[in-house]
Amino acid sequence: MAREKQIEEYDVVIIGGGAGGLTAGIYCGRARLKTLLIEKALVGGLATYTNEIENYPGFPEGTTGLGLMNLFEKQAKKFGVKFKGTDVKTVDLSGEVKTVETFRNIYKCKVVIIASGGRPRVTGAVNEEDFLFDKGISFCATCDAASNTGKDVLIVGSGDAAIEEGMFLTKFANKVIVSVIHEEGKMDCNEIAKAEALANPKMEFVWNTVVKRFEGSEHLERVVLENVKTKEEISIGVPTCFEFIGYLPNTEIFKGQVTMTERGYVVVNENKETNIDGVYAVGDVTDKFLKQVATAVGDGAIAGYAAEKYIAEEETYKSQILGKDGVVFVYDASEAGCRDCLAEVEKLEKELQEQHCITRVDIYKSRGISDRMQIDEVPRLAIVKGGKIVKVLDQDFDPEEVKATLV
Ligand SMILES: Cc1cc2nc3c(=O)[nH]c(=O)nc-3n(C[C@H](O)[C@H](O)[C@H](O)COP(=O)(O)OP(=O)(O)OC[C@H]3O[C@@H](n4cnc5c(N)ncnc54)[C@H](O)[C@@H]3O)c2cc1C
Repeated sequence: MAREKQIEEYDVVIIGGGAGGLTAGIYCGRARLKTLLIEKALVGGLATYTNEIENYPGFPEGTTGLGLMNLFEKQAKKFGVKFKGTDVKTVDLSGEVKTVETFRNIYKCKVVIIASGGRPRVTGAVNEEDFLFDKGISFCATCDAASNTGKDVLIVGSGDAAIEEGMFLTKFANKVIVSVIHEEGKMDCNEIAKAEALANPKMEFVWNTVVKRFEGSEHLERVVLENVKTKEEISIGVPTCFEFIGYLPNTEIFKGQVTMTERGYVVVNENKETNIDGVYAVGDVTDKFLKQVATAVGDGAIAGYAAEKYIAEEETYKSQILGKDGVVFVYDASEAGCRDCLAEVEKLEKELQEQHCITRVDIYKSRGISDRMQIDEVPRLAIVKGGKIVKVLDQDFDPEEVKATLV
């Protein structure tokens, strides 16, 4: 008989335990939110695939990806974040209470942070699996350029990323050989990058080729290309092959709910908010300029902080705004017009003091509560009765109308 799924409740569920998810966890845990992080593979994410991380601040001697991510995990655990090693199968992100489902469990939560990262597209050539990441097939020139100083390297691809990263690699490598699937002179990158690359004496192009197989014992030693027209094999001796043929975000389970770019990256604003209230996305899964540990960390910090604010505002909204009959003054303390209106509000406050109070909502720091009240302009005076906003008045409000409405 099939076992019924266990239901557990959390404030925040984070999907993905890479640099972005772990940082979001540290912030949520430290804010005393009941937080669950679900990771389907290795906690630490893509960064654990690299031996050397030289560009993460605070480690002048460099660090290993695994070592760095272990520290992130330890810190998140210290703040009480719970970890589950399983695959999130489906999500329902609509509504106030979100549902995240794994094989065995159903998790209900107020906030979901999507931190599921992505995966590089691979060529599918023979033996590719054997040399991925630290064994010679790289997807990150920024990460592996220095270790290829003075060596020949191969790049697969001719798009903007391939050519720009290739140009960067010429500063380190002896020679950068580029395998291009197209006819001589035809590339997928922009014209400026193309002209610069063709003029660079360290760049060498092998046209009409795709990767047929990878060869080596422990580490990559050779890449065998195939000419797509003549079927001729071309063996290139290199210790590193950089594949830049695209990147695939891990967003399949969010399709139809979260707004994504054409390529499937989650669209977020600067607060890492998606199109759905209470749903955030961080790190490589988002549509962003630079995919690195440092930027994923920044995203995670913002989302963790935003999640805490969202939950606190939701509680304030329910208990203090809708929880009792009264008046809510929504204003912006930095605006002179709003400050002028404050005197009138204080007068009304004195008159109402006996039966009703005026709650002040300053939108200067956050619009979370005013957005929930659907108030776009300030100052405004909202009258709440029976758990509902029954009237919204502007600065020329009539105190008698306010009192009459509250009766
Ligand atoms: C070989 C290599 C070397 C690199 N070197 C450097 C470097 O030197 N410096 C640097 O700054 N950056 C480097 N990067 C880039 C860096 O690793 C990424 O930018 C960073 O890991 C992004 O973190 P993230 O949290 O967004 O995603 P990820 O690290 O990709 O983590 C996402 C996690 O989500 C999990 N996940 C996905 N779907 C689900 C699901 N349905 N359920 C549960 N879990 C799920 C995945 O298993 C994964 O662990 C390198 C990348 C690679 C591949």
